[in-house]
Parts: sequence; C-alpha cells; structure tokens
Amino acid sequence: MPDPLDWIDDELTALDAQHLRRGLVTREGPQDAVVTVGQSHNLINFGSNDYLGLAADRRLNDAAAIVAQNEGWGAGASPLVAGRSLSHEQLERRLAEFKGAEAGLVFSSGFAANVGTVAALVERGDAIFSDANNHASLIDGCRLSRAEVHIYRHADVDHLAELLSATGRYRRRLIVTDALFSMDGDLAPLPQIAALAAQHGAMLMVDEAHATGVFGQRGRGVSEHLGVEDAIHVHMGTLSKALGSTGGFVVGQQKLIDWLTNRARAYVFSTALSSPVAAATIAAIELVQSESQRRWQLLDRAGELRERLSAQGWNIGRSCAQIIPIYLGDAEQTMDLAQTLRGCGLFVPGIRPPSVPTGKSLLRISLTWLHTPAMLDTLLQALAAERH
Ligand code: PMP
Repeated sequence: MPDPLDWIDDELTALDAQHLRRGLVTREGPQDAVVTVGQSHNLINFGSNDYLGLAADRRLNDAAAIVAQNEGWGAGASPLVAGRSLSHEQLERRLAEFKGAEAGLVFSSGFAANVGTVAALVERGDAIFSDANNHASLIDGCRLSRAEVHIYRHADVDHLAELLSATGRYRRRLIVTDALFSMDGDLAPLPQIAALAAQHGAMLMVDEAHATGVFGQRGRGVSEHLGVEDAIHVHMGTLSKALGSTGGFVVGQQKLIDWLTNRARAYVFSTALSSPVAAATIAAIELVQSESQRRWQLLDRAGELRERLSAQGWNIGRSCAQIIPIYLGDAEQTMDLAQTLRGCGLFVPGIRPPSVPTGKSLLRISLTWLHTPAMLDTLLQALAAERH
C-alpha cells in the first residue's frame, strides 16, 4: 500500500533541484548582534528584525517575570471568553496612546492581525487594492476575505489610481499596503496613496510591521515620518520586530476596534497572548519612547552602510531603511554568497522564492542597534572581496 504522503518526496526533490528547499535554522542563546546558528559559532547576525536590540533586554524579562508571578503564564482561553487579562487591557491602551489612536487590539501574531483584519473589513462584493509586494499575511487576508483583489504594481500610484477609477461599482473598497517593505527596504508613497483613498472614499490600511519603533519622530512608523497618520483608517503593526516581543496589533477608531473584536476570526477564535508577553511589550514601548537615540543611531548607520554598499557596486535597489537588500537574482548564486559570508563569520540570510518572485533572489541585510561600526566594517570587507 503506497504511503498517501509519497507525493511530498517528489515535491521536496523538485525543490532540491531548484535550490529552493528550505531548512530550519536553530539559534543557541538569545537574539543578539553575534549568534550561534546550527554548527556555526559566533556569527555577526544580519538576520534579525530585533531592530532596536530589545529582544533580550533585561528590562523586558523583568517585566515579564513580575506578571508571570501575578497572572501566570498561559492565557487559557480566547480573549472574549476568559483569556484577556489586565495586562492585555493595559497593553492595548498603551499601544493606542503610543500611536495616537482612540483604541487598539492585540492579536497573537502580526500574521493573525493582518489575516483577521483584512477579512473582517471586506467580503464578497467588495474590492481590495493591494501593492504587488505586500507581505504574505496581507495576501492571505485578501484571499480569505473573498473580496475581488486588484493588485497594483509595486508603489505605483498611477496604476492604483487607474484601478480605483475603473472599479467604481463596488460596495466597500480597501487599499492595503506595507509601510516599509520587508524585503526591499523601501517606503510606500503614503501621501499619494492617502490622497487617492480620500478621493475615492476607500478605507486605507497600512502595515507598519518593520517601521514601528524605527521611523517617525516618536517611533510611530512611516505614517508619522511622512505626516499622514490621520489619513489612515487602519494602523497595523507587530510586537515582534523593533518591540522585541511577539504578537500583532491594530489601532484606530473605537468603532473599528469594536468591529474587529466581533468579526476578526483570528482574534475571536484564538487564545490570547501570554500575559507576561503583554507585560514585556509594555516595557518595550516605554523603551522606544525613552531611548529614542536607538532609532536615530540605527537609521544613521543604515544610511552610511547603504552608501558604502552602493560605492562597492552592489545593487541595493530603493532601500532607504534598516533593511538593505543586495539583489542577485539567481537563487543558487544568492545561497552561494550567503554561504561564503558565513565562512567569514557573517550570518546574512539569502532570500529566494517563494519569499520573493522567481529571478529576484537577494541577500537581506537587517541592521539592529546592537551592531557596532566594526561589525559593519567586517561585512563590507567580506563583500568587497567578492567584487574582485
Ligand atoms: N507584516 C509584515 C510586513 C511582516 O514582514 C511580517 C513578518 N515578517 C508580518 C506582517 C507578520 O508579523 P509576525 O511575525 O508578528 O507574525
């Protein structure tokens, strides 16, 4: 009797042949500027989204430990039943204050926040306008919603305007975009997108996963940086990147949060985050506010690194952030360079399909505040050797 799962062997063999098979990577010890992954010890780590270096900060641990004593570890139920504790309530209030919004809602991950929110805002008979490079969680939310999805070319506001003009007949319309794109490190043209949303009476949802805590005077994100916060109806972010924690959130008007509380299935039917996680995240928000030098130093160093990489002749595209791609195109060549860098003591992940389209593989350099100038010099020296 053949094993009904035999087809998986064939599929995995096909992935191997295309150099697209992924393997799990295990890190020893905390997330840090230097890490041990797999058999490779003490690699300078350019593969973490812990942009402000808070993931292993003692103050987050301490906050979590106190709440673990008072509220326990597991939430034990979904938030609408008995899973939501005082720490969750406090975190939602702090997130809303931090982002200058009326109310907030915390999901178990950023992925859940996107899938749950998009599918709660639109349904069959409605239309979504989605940037071609949006994150997988937004794409899955679009699919799940059953609304008609119109994909506009990446950051192309003329194309978005064209699509909006051609689709007047829909009941509700939702424009959705990443604020800072997770692979390309470029920013969405939010002022122009917001103007189009206003002109067409569309809802605008912005995913600030990679920009929260990094961009803007107060660390609120790209919408603050570009001065368009008030024009955005649905502000989404994660707790898992610059906030060094885990979970996702949406902030906005109270009625939006009331609606999501009732209709976002990824919220309603999923166990609440652990209370200690909520407590650690509150501590992280306080650090984002009190240690603003971390984001300025990070962005300054990123600017300098981008200039030096360009000077070496690497194609870094339109990156203007702490995420810096080196576009190589071919998946095999990308993984070879990642391996060579690993041999030089550097962990720089190669990104290939399905995370990026075929032929668009890249090395993704992710900077954190913990990187020292000497670490960046080491990276540049290793890359310079590859240009000769
Ligand atoms: N949105 C974007 C743009 C992301 O890059 C990610 C995670 N890589 C998510 C959402 C999902 O967030 P989380 O990791 O907290 O589930």
